[in-house]
Amino acid sequence: METPPDVDELAPPNRTLMGPGPSPVHPRVLRAMSTPLVGHLDPSFLDIMDETQELLRYAFRTENQWTIPVSGTGSASMEAAIGNLVEPGDTMLVPTNGYFGGRMASMAERAGGDVVEVDAPWGEPLDPVDVQDAFDEHQPDVFGFVHAETSTGAKQTNVPELTDVAHSHDALVVADTVTSLGGVELKVDEWGIDVAYSGPQKCLSCPPGASPLTLNDDAMDKVLSREEPARSWYLDLSLLEGYWGEERAYHHTAPITNVYALREALRLVAEEGIEERWARHERVAGALKAGVEAMGLDLNPEDDYWLPSLNAVRVPDGVTDSDVIDFLLDEYDLEIAGGLGDLSGEIFRIGCMGHGAREKNVTFLVSALADALD
Ligand code: PLP
Repeated sequence: METPPDVDELAPPNRTLMGPGPSPVHPRVLRAMSTPLVGHLDPSFLDIMDETQELLRYAFRTENQWTIPVSGTGSASMEAAIGNLVEPGDTMLVPTNGYFGGRMASMAERAGGDVVEVDAPWGEPLDPVDVQDAFDEHQPDVFGFVHAETSTGAKQTNVPELTDVAHSHDALVVADTVTSLGGVELKVDEWGIDVAYSGPQKCLSCPPGASPLTLNDDAMDKVLSREEPARSWYLDLSLLEGYWGEERAYHHTAPITNVYALREALRLVAEEGIEERWARHERVAGALKAGVEAMGLDLNPEDDYWLPSLNAVRVPDGVTDSDVIDFLLDEYDLEIAGGLGDLSGEIFRIGCMGHGAREKNVTFLVSALADALD
C-alpha cells in the first residue's frame, strides 16, 4: 500500500510584501477569514453580499447597481469585463504602454473581437490626441485603458478626456483599476468610466480570490442584448445576474471566505475614508520616492505620471536586479520585484499599497535597499 505523504504543518515565512502585489493583509481581514463558513445562499450571507456591494460602490465612487466581486483573481474580473462586452466582430482599442494592455488584447481576441492599438512608450500614459486619432481611424466599439500600469509604475492621467473621446464615438470604456482601487484617486461615475475591474490584493490589502467589477447601465445593456452568449459560462454576467441581482439564485458556489475578506477590507476603506486613503498613499509613497531619490536612484516615470501604489525605480548601472531582489528576500524577508516585458532588468517594482503603505515600511525598505546596493 502506498504510504501517505509526510508533509509538515504549514509555516510560511513572515515576509514584508512590498512588490507589485499581493500586499500585506490587515489583521482584521485575516480574522474575518477565520470566522465560520455559511452557505452561499444562507440569509446571513445574502446580507453580506448586499453590504459588500454597497462598500464596493463606495470604493469605486459609483452608483452602478451592477457592482460585484467576481470569483477569481483580477484576471477573472478582467475577463468578465472584456469577455462580456466584446462580441464577435466588435473592435476593441487597447493600449501598448504596458504589460496589461497586451493581456486586454489577448482577452478581446479570444472573445472574437478585432484588436486595434493606440501606442505610447512603456512608462508613459496615453495621449488623448492619439486616442482621438485611433478612434477616427478605427471606430472601435470598446476602448480599454490601464489606470495604474503595474508593469511600469505609470498612472494614466486625463481620464475624463479619454472617456469623452470614446463616448463621442459611441464606444464603451473599460478601465483596469487593479492597482488603483482603494489607493489612487479613482472616480468611476464622475470620470465617465463604463466598466471598471480590479483586484483585492493590491491597495485593498486583501488576499486574492474575489475581484471587484462595476458596470453602468449602458454597459450592462450591451451585455444583456448580446446576440451570442459570452464564451465563458463561468463569467457570463447575464447568468451571474441571477446570483448577484435581485433573485439571489445559485449560479456557482461563491468563495465565501474571500467575500468575508473583501467585505472587511472594504470596511477598513470606509472607516478611513476613501479620500483620506488616497492621500495616505500619496504621502507615504512620497516619502518612499524621496528616500530612494536621496540615495541617488531615479524613478522611471516622470513625476507627472508617478503612481504612488507602484514605484518603478531604475536599476543603477552595474547592478543586477535579481541580486538585489534575492538579497532583500534572504536577508530582510522583504519582497520587491523586477521589471516585466520592455522594462525587464531595468526597474525594481516597489509596491506601497493598502496596509503596506505605512511610514514604518518605507523606513525599512529604504534602509534595506541601501544595504543591498552598498
Ligand atoms: N491588471 C493589472 C494592472 C495587474 O497589475 C494585474 C495583476 O498584477 C492584473 C490585471 C491581473 O490580476 P491577477 O494577477 O490577480 O489575475
